[in-house]
Amino acid sequence: MVYDIIIIGAGTAGLSAAIYAVRAGKTVLVLEAKYYGGQIINTPEVENYPGIKKVSGFEFATNLYEQAMELGAEIKYEKVIKISDEAVESNVENEADNGKDRVKLVFTEENEYKSKSIIIATGAKNRKLGLENEEKLTGAGVSYCATCDGAFFKGKTVAVAGGGNAALEDAGFLANYCEKVYVIHRREEFRGEEKLVEKLKAKENVEFVLNSEVVGLKGSDRLEAVEIYNKVTNETKELVIAGLFIAIGQVPDNEAFSDVIDIDEVGYITASENCKTKAEGIFTAGDCRTKKVRQLTTAAADGAVAGLAACEYIG
Ligand code: NAP
Repeated sequence: MVYDIIIIGAGTAGLSAAIYAVRAGKTVLVLEAKYYGGQIINTPEVENYPGIKKVSGFEFATNLYEQAMELGAEIKYEKVIKISDEAVESNVENEADNGKDRVKLVFTEENEYKSKSIIIATGAKNRKLGLENEEKLTGAGVSYCATCDGAFFKGKTVAVAGGGNAALEDAGFLANYCEKVYVIHRREEFRGEEKLVEKLKAKENVEFVLNSEVVGLKGSDRLEAVEIYNKVTNETKELVIAGLFIAIGQVPDNEAFSDVIDIDEVGYITASENCKTKAEGIFTAGDCRTKKVRQLTTAAADGAVAGLAACEYIG
């Protein structure tokens, strides 16, 4: 079978693209390496999506997923390892002109799929601190998801590393049931919204550890403490904590596509607001592309733009 559109990634951008494409009558396969929903699924509360006053990230993602599936999109949980837009024998009819008889190939770890067009919406993955032991202690005191793992630390002392909205929201969430929450940020000013900072300041069990970086993770089988370096005082101290939640942003993961489309020096797919890549018929949407604002709203908007652009390309 040759799908009209294969969408790589079932986050907000990918599922929004699927909704627009299936509503335009196209056959759509969504390929997802892990689980539907993308980054938002781990956000405790979304308060800035226009038209929705407050919703959990899980509910938002689940609604989006169900909406796309009920409208007729298909999803398979397979990791894409390569794409190709070389001309191959195809059964695509009436498309001998404009090079559109080229069928795109999408290779997963298990299978090979064909489509007339591709939308890459792979989002980004959690940035690591890059410390010795970080991988070993992940799941043993170190976590990248407060909503997933926070409940294991009820009544305990934990820390959040990071100064963006994600770190601030995680800290607020954890403060509801942890004894104490340190927020460790490498600068004096937070990157995240002032409203979230003010909310945390009002909580008695939250303490800011500013101008500081986590430089060491202590514990052999489980995290027992973190080593903190203060850049202003030049001092290193130890904080005894049961859990460290790392929320220092995301990094894209687009290496699999680099021989077909352009990727910038930090790994984002080069495309402007029209979501077109340099390869004809291959589009990109959401956090995986070069852009200034990476938000839920811009991911959904990209999905609409890329979905409709792919429909127009197919004709
Ligand atoms: P972010 O905004 O990129 O913030 C990352 C934070 O981690 C920054 O404070 C950064 O410090 C710090 N950081 C980066 N690398 C570090 C390192 N190696 N060591 C220590 N600290 C490091 O990432 P995010 O908070 O995950 O948010 C990503 C996007 O999603 C943003 O656009 C954000 O607004 C959005 N978001 C929105 C909501 C919401 O509106 N409800 C919720 C979550 C996320 P510096 O500040 O010094 O660079």
